[in-house]
Amino acid sequence: MNETMSIFNELESEVRSYCRSFPAVFTKAKGWKMWDEDGTEYIDFFAGAGALNYGHNDEKMKRALIDYIADDGITHSLDMATKPKAAFLKKLNEVILKPRKLNYKVMFPGPTGTNTVESALKLARKVTGRTEIISFTNGFHGMTIGSLSVTGNASKRKGAGIPLTNVVTMPYDKFGDEEVDTLRYLEQFLRDNGSGVDIPAAVILETVQGEGGINAARMEWLQQLERICKKYDILMIIDDVQAGIGRTGTFFSFEEAGITPDIVCLSKSIGGYGLPLALTLFKPELDIWAPGEHNGTFRGNNHAFITATAALSYWEDPSFEQAIKDKSKKIHAFLTKLVDSYPEMNGCVKGRGFMAGIGSKVDGLAGKIAAEAFKRGLIMETAGPEDEVFKLFPPLTISDEDLEKGFAIIEESVRAVLGVKEPVTT
Ligand code: PMP
Repeated sequence: MNETMSIFNELESEVRSYCRSFPAVFTKAKGWKMWDEDGTEYIDFFAGAGALNYGHNDEKMKRALIDYIADDGITHSLDMATKPKAAFLKKLNEVILKPRKLNYKVMFPGPTGTNTVESALKLARKVTGRTEIISFTNGFHGMTIGSLSVTGNASKRKGAGIPLTNVVTMPYDKFGDEEVDTLRYLEQFLRDNGSGVDIPAAVILETVQGEGGINAARMEWLQQLERICKKYDILMIIDDVQAGIGRTGTFFSFEEAGITPDIVCLSKSIGGYGLPLALTLFKPELDIWAPGEHNGTFRGNNHAFITATAALSYWEDPSFEQAIKDKSKKIHAFLTKLVDSYPEMNGCVKGRGFMAGIGSKVDGLAGKIAAEAFKRGLIMETAGPEDEVFKLFPPLTISDEDLEKGFAIIEESVRAVLGVKEPVTT
């Protein structure tokens, strides 16, 4: 072990995780590449777990931030009024919300994903006066107690150390037996007075489950869930912390389904540059908060407002969205070919857009492939309850050339793990 790594071993808690999967000391990053202290170059198919959809150290965002800092612009301001916050709100409204005909109020909770989820759950309970929430199998919503209570993963839930209450878990689309209509099942529980399930304040879900294994709900399923929510007067919360900001091909992951959630949670890439920021968006009639009823010291992260505003400029040019869609097709074509070419993987292609991966029924295979990929200069993580999925999550801005280089590394890694000598797909 090198000298820097031993510092983490000695001084940092056992809770650390990514530095175990990617054992290198990183010094520099640009776009979709990272370098370690020995100068080794890596292609980044991880993108800060979805916090770096525009890549590392984007030039325009960096310039705007440097100018702002050099000018002694205010850094920390709780929720006081500042120019960068005003500029961000205006741009979000003009570039994102208005063109999509979304009339949402914007709330700034504390600057992380779990903060926006906590605020959404609180608001739904406050508005409806009900206590229960319906969550879905394999959903992931964060590490604080409220968010954990709507999260499926057993080991993460266990970490809470207390009972996680006031939540009923229902099957997500295609959970278990793929033939089962999981929404018919859900509706039966709402309809039948003997079901033991109270009408909840809200349902909370990801349209594509990130940590839970890149499970993409079908559009019809999302549309039907919205209809059920309307019928039973239940609020629909979409947690777009990971699937949002272009990851599935559109700014919000629910656009293709044509649904309008009552509450939307955003974080990760909304700051643009990897700086912490979170938003909770909701329909204006839900805005019954008392001033300061939900607050947080770091809501006014002005540096993040500066980079977030610059990031939204990407969405002013329709070719950005088109490029994401074109590259997504390449990702899915590659993954399909890989699954077909290496039946020993016993794999299936998962996900939507730039949120894709392969789920393998071979125990431990996905982790081994990710470890081999790292040795070959590609950063890629795993997902799913048994870490059975390897997950392609490059920045949306990645060049075709490096996307393909990444594919080649993945195929080499698959071959190395399976002991296959010759390339099959190329
Ligand atoms: N919701 C989803 C869908 C997420 O993927 C995550 C993080 N992986 C969170 C919430 C929690 O975000 P944070 O780690 O910033 O609290």
